[in-house]
Amino acid sequence: MQDRVFNFSAGPAVLPLSVLQKAREELLCLPGFGASVLEISHRSKPFEAIISAAEENIRKLLAIPSNYRVLFLQGGAILQFAMIPMNILKGSGKSADYIVTGSWSKKALSEGKTQGECNVAWDGKDTQFKRKPSAGELTLNPNAAYCYFCSNETIEGIQWQAEPDTGDVPLVCDSSSDIFCRPVDVSKYGILYACAQKNVGPAGVTVVIIRDDLVAKSDDNLPSLLNYKKLDAAKSLLNTPPCFAIYMVKLVTDWLLEEVGGLEKMYAINKEKASLLYGVIDASNGFYTGHAEKEFRSIMNVPFRLPSEELDKKFQEEAKTVGLTTLGGHRSVGGLRASIYNAMPREGVVKLAAFMKDFAKKNG
Ligand SMILES: *Cc1c(COP(=O)(O)O)cnc(C)c1O
Repeated sequence: MQDRVFNFSAGPAVLPLSVLQKAREELLCLPGFGASVLEISHRSKPFEAIISAAEENIRKLLAIPSNYRVLFLQGGAILQFAMIPMNILKGSGKSADYIVTGSWSKKALSEGKTQGECNVAWDGKDTQFKRKPSAGELTLNPNAAYCYFCSNETIEGIQWQAEPDTGDVPLVCDSSSDIFCRPVDVSKYGILYACAQKNVGPAGVTVVIIRDDLVAKSDDNLPSLLNYKKLDAAKSLLNTPPCFAIYMVKLVTDWLLEEVGGLEKMYAINKEKASLLYGVIDASNGFYTGHAEKEFRSIMNVPFRLPSEELDKKFQEEAKTVGLTTLGGHRSVGGLRASIYNAMPREGVVKLAAFMKDFAKKNG
């Protein structure tokens, strides 16, 4: 256990230690069932209990209204980039609006265009994806099939503090890297989804929260596994789901409810953790520069740079020797990035902040 590092990976990412311990404890034998969750049928009683408990936990954490379905799907967030327009846009006679605030919403737009007409409601490219738009900057179509945004741009580290107001147009949100980091009013959304491997569990499952009237829109001619209506009717068990990943989602959401004590508490912890790192960046007299404009800074992903690429590299190498790992920025943007998801212990952030101060003193 002493070998465990503080892993700042953007995803797949750190999981709560108590969750890993519980999974290890139960790996050979689910209590009372004589077999591992890796070995049992997805149609068995114990698995049924696991998937319904995972759903119940998610409903409780986000206070999801009863007119929303919770689906456990495969293909990651990127399949949702295509499934959403496939089910909601194609054949609707409408277009969709996309708010492009960074790499992930940009990718969602390009996948969306494979299925129908997608318009850019705002593009942050010219301002290097350092901020989100103000309400007045958005070009929204009141007849759009939906308006798409990404609540936290994992690569650029910018986060929406409040959802854009799209009136009656359903709001569709990629919340892959900030779901469960704070309370959210689900009733404002048409679809809210997240791949698991940042803040919900391991890779392999994607949680899709979708309003009833949008589920009903799926065309019967879509292949079943791409069809929300059919996936919902089968309660996400149209075929064999990623059973172990769903089991882990249950454990992570148990942890959020029972150990953390819900999303208000998680939010307070996350804000404090993020302020430790941004505090060091702001007090470094320009040795460290953050990417996002201050008011749009993400509390989940903290990208920053040092005065040179050599120092970026030296920082990472030295950090690694003291157990602070995976601090490299995304391959598309370089620099450094500390991902401090829910499961990153405060202790890890405190240690990184101290390392940053010390490194600046020695190299500044
Ligand atoms: C990681 C990430 C994705 C990609 O998820 P996959 O599961 O690899 O498809 C999409 N959007 C956001 C915001 C992400 O952080």
